Amino acid sequence: MEWLKTHRNDAILIAVLLLLGGALAVFLYATRQNGGYVSVQVDGETVMKLPLSEDTRIVLGEGGHTNTLVITDGAAQVVEAGCPDQICVNHGAIRYAGESIVCLPHRLVVSVEGGQESGIDAGTG
Ligand SMILES: [Zn+2]
Repeated sequence: MEWLKTHRNDAILIAVLLLLGGALAVFLYATRQNGGYVSVQVDGETVMKLPLSEDTRIVLGEGGHTNTLVITDGAAQVVEAGCPDQICVNHGAIRYAGESIVCLPHRLVVSVEGGQESGIDAGTG
């Protein structure tokens, strides 16, 4: 009977760990989705910041050198671009802080910044 008891405790321990792991994953997932901004940089300069919480469709650039940036459901994506490689379009959507879409031909960088930023940089704008 000792054997059975030990293994039952193991099973309970594993169940508890799985539950904790699941709860942690849900927690991380939920917090990662919170807020956040999309920072648009052209030629190394931040030209605009857009909140991920607001659905937007914006065309960046001019002439044939445009990138159409769409924000829906808290994710940003380049849906259309006039660049030859289309890497930015094929990248897909980004939503987490630190992720970015780069369009080398247009020197465009779209990156997600965290939602928990404390205050706005006094130096910008
Ligand atoms: Zn591109």
